[in-house]
Amino acid sequence: MKIKKGDTILVIAGRDRGKTGKVTSVNPTQQTVKVSGINISKKHLRPKRGAAGGGITEVAVPLSISKVMFMCSHCNKPVRLGSKTTTAGNKERICRVCKSTV
Ligand SMILES: [Zn+2]
Repeated sequence: MKIKKGDTILVIAGRDRGKTGKVTSVNPTQQTVKVSGINISKKHLRPKRGAAGGGITEVAVPLSISKVMFMCSHCNKPVRLGSKTTTAGNKERICRVCKSTV
């Protein structure tokens, strides 16, 4: 998983194609990401005894990571990510277009 929580992504497939949003959570096992404001589904809640009445809430449905692309904040484009190892031995993600660390 190259995409991390807090990244800005562009949706490249599906109903919200062309929209950008911030990743709110990632699921490495299922290879999905949740993005704020993207893939919102309205959930109709039935009033339950003991709980506050019914209504409609909006929930973000996870998107497959193959449907999103990382948005580079330096070149402001959807880019592929590469990785490099720093002299200190840490792995860093780099933008393949402008080569800056993201
Ligand atoms: Zn870039």
